[in-house]
Amino acid sequence: MEQSIKDLAVKYDFVWDRLSENERAAVMEMGEDYKRFIDAGKTERLCTREIVRCAREQGFADLNDVDSLRPGDKVYSVNRGKGVVLAVIGSDEVAQGVSIVGSHIDSPRLDIKQNPLYEEGGMALFKTHYYGGVRKYQWVARPLALCGVVVRRDGSVLDICIGDGPEDPVFYISDLLPHLAADQNKKTLADGVAGEDLNAVAGTIPVGEREDKHRFKLAVLKLLHDKYGMTEEDFVSAELELVPAGNARDVGFDRASIAAYGHDDRVCAYTSMRALFDITSCKKTAVALFVDKEEVGSNGSTGMHSRNFANVLGRMIELQRGACSGFDVDRALARSALLSSDVAAAFDPNYPSVADVRNTAYLGKGVTLVKYTGSRGKSGSNDASAEFLGEVRKCLNDAGVVWQTSELGKVDQGGGGTIAYILANCDMDVVDIGVPVLSMHAPFEVVSKADVYMTVRAYLAFYHSR
Ligand code: MN
Ligand code: MN
Repeated sequence: MEQSIKDLAVKYDFVWDRLSENERAAVMEMGEDYKRFIDAGKTERLCTREIVRCAREQGFADLNDVDSLRPGDKVYSVNRGKGVVLAVIGSDEVAQGVSIVGSHIDSPRLDIKQNPLYEEGGMALFKTHYYGGVRKYQWVARPLALCGVVVRRDGSVLDICIGDGPEDPVFYISDLLPHLAADQNKKTLADGVAGEDLNAVAGTIPVGEREDKHRFKLAVLKLLHDKYGMTEEDFVSAELELVPAGNARDVGFDRASIAAYGHDDRVCAYTSMRALFDITSCKKTAVALFVDKEEVGSNGSTGMHSRNFANVLGRMIELQRGACSGFDVDRALARSALLSSDVAAAFDPNYPSVADVRNTAYLGKGVTLVKYTGSRGKSGSNDASAEFLGEVRKCLNDAGVVWQTSELGKVDQGGGGTIAYILANCDMDVVDIGVPVLSMHAPFEVVSKADVYMTVRAYLAFYHSR
């Protein structure tokens, strides 16, 4: 009797307490694989390339190259080099709806401006414009890598990635020395470092004669021209990003956690990709969706608001049925279900006051269900239905997945969002579920290897259940 009353209360376990020795080894092995993935994909373009490389290794074919789709077929479709759809075709037709796990592969960073290069005080510098929700003070006085593409005058595309090789130089944004920070110290944390002051050192050797003008800027332009055939105007048709240099690292004596740039949301990209690769068979076509631009509102041709995913779905229906109407696509979307796969804010012992400790995620307590996001009175949120949460919860429990549930901080403390509401607006059942992360949006974020492992198992259980 005593025991059965105790069973009425919910228990949220630590993943580690539920793992066998073999599973602990599997957790650590997956951690190594994930570190390789996240180091290879520090921008949405590099991450897209890495996902496609892994998918091709698993036998996935480009959707453009296939003329039929049968159960078990594996295909991918790349959106402008910055997003991907991976699909494993189920025994049901695609028109009957699909099972989607959707993540975003863009992360907060500093973009290089279109007229970036100038000189001052014997230095050539790059002007930047921050992308996404960055805390600006975190981006100064640290090594940065420059990654992206430049489309040159003749239309040729140049790939650049400098700062992550062992011999590479890095880029650097200066910070004020404490000796002279009396005025700055009086400012708020938000105002202490201004956006227009995030200028990165690009070079300090002048060219030409002492009386010449712009000798430092011209020296950098000469280097860029000699090495890449670039001129200054080429920056106008470029997408160059400054991202933290250096690799992912284990954290703690027990190596149980990983610190890296861009866990938000590439940890969910990785876990959904791994789950998709592990599918044995499924009734509904299983889709792992990787989108860009979530950190700036999901707009544009590569964001979740784009019709790209609907068009890919339409092409798959057309390949199976010989034709596809707009309504076929809309109906397929409405018959689909989405796990919006994004990171949750983990409880931070250094800042306990911002969380509701009864409704926060904890590092190591498993994959995290988030019924609603938004701010204030759930504003802007996809508030997942009790019915769909019931379905997902049952699926996780049946598969022995260790899960928890959370919301983003205390009521009225702040807030945020994901891609969930966008596909929910297509008449689809959607819930947010992902990996808890410490220091979200910092240049170095932390996740638990146990949560990464459990999240793969959760997504796999979802794919297999439908
Ligand atoms: Mn995110
Ligand atoms: Mn984010």
